[in-house]
Amino acid sequence: MMKQIPMLDLTEQYANLKEEILTSLDQVMSKAHFILGENVKKLERDVAEYSNASHGIGVANGSDALNIALMACGVGPGDEVIVPSFTFFATAGAVARTGATPVFVDINPKTFNICPESIEKAITPKTKAIIPVHLYGQMADMDAIKAIADQHNLYIIEDAAQAIGAEYKGKKVGELGTLACYSFFPTKNLGAYGDAGMIITSDDELAEKCRVIRVHGSKPKYYHHILGYNSRLDEMQAAILNVKFPHLNDWSKQRKERAKTYTTLLKEALGDQVVTPFEEEFNYHVYHQYTIRVERRDELQAFLKENGVSTMVYYPQPLHLQPVFSYLGYKEGDLPETEKAAKEAISLPMFPELKEEQQQYVVEKIKEFYSAK
Ligand SMILES: *Cc1c(COP(=O)(O)O)cnc(C)c1O
Repeated sequence: MMKQIPMLDLTEQYANLKEEILTSLDQVMSKAHFILGENVKKLERDVAEYSNASHGIGVANGSDALNIALMACGVGPGDEVIVPSFTFFATAGAVARTGATPVFVDINPKTFNICPESIEKAITPKTKAIIPVHLYGQMADMDAIKAIADQHNLYIIEDAAQAIGAEYKGKKVGELGTLACYSFFPTKNLGAYGDAGMIITSDDELAEKCRVIRVHGSKPKYYHHILGYNSRLDEMQAAILNVKFPHLNDWSKQRKERAKTYTTLLKEALGDQVVTPFEEEFNYHVYHQYTIRVERRDELQAFLKENGVSTMVYYPQPLHLQPVFSYLGYKEGDLPETEKAAKEAISLPMFPELKEEQQQYVVEKIKEFYSAK
């Protein structure tokens, strides 16, 4: 029978944690306290501490974390926010939702992360914030970004949806930005069993604003000074995340080992024919994705699919070329590195429980594809 290698398999993880998760869910339902209770408080404390920050604000998902963080910074119509174009839609969607203008910039082709020189060129008197995305689990070049932000008095909102546990020169996600946004979408490195997210910050005032915005802008209850959302991380998801959180560091280590194995196998089998991930030596990369660059990417993906190997393309269409942003007037050729990456990048199956023999099979099939005429 043909092997089937999924992009991500969460079943083994659940089998290992099943007893604990069911017990904690039972406790939530028995106590019948479902919104902003002790599980959310515990998770907020633990994740903030883990990020070397003072506050965690649990929200409904990672996209809302970005929305609320921008709102707390007062970003709105007339403002510009600098974002990479090579990212998930939510990064720029959140900016546009506030009425501000997303300003798309290019990436560093080695790391796929936002390019500080491009940020510098994009700054105008209207610029209010920068959103670096720590793509695939590796942090962006925060020293350079922070220097620009300090010089121009800008907020930094880290999109850390893919990077919980990552480090840059010994500093954690959430330590260098004004705020950082996590997603606990089920496929992320710390995944809930539904939607969930969190904002992290060490700024007391912004933290308080985020807390008020997530409950309709109400403080005290039923008195509204600002327009907020209903966006809360619920107790059921927090209870699950509290069971999973203590395992996060081990899972990150396992992801790193899988990444190392892929790189060794790929180099042996294909030499320079594929470009394996570049890891800055001062970064702790948590490999949310293991992403390589290849030629004839779409053909390779189809071939792997025929052979039972699922892969994903993050992301096939850069945001500056999305129809929804056509009003901004970007055209093909504006961000060459982004456009090139969108044609070459492909992510291989990656999760802590991935087996070496599965990785060998994936690499064998990639080799087979490039050996055939
Ligand atoms: C997943 C993701 C988000 C959004 O998170 P949700 O919880 O799905 O709303 C934002 N940015 C990036 C880079 C992501 O990968």
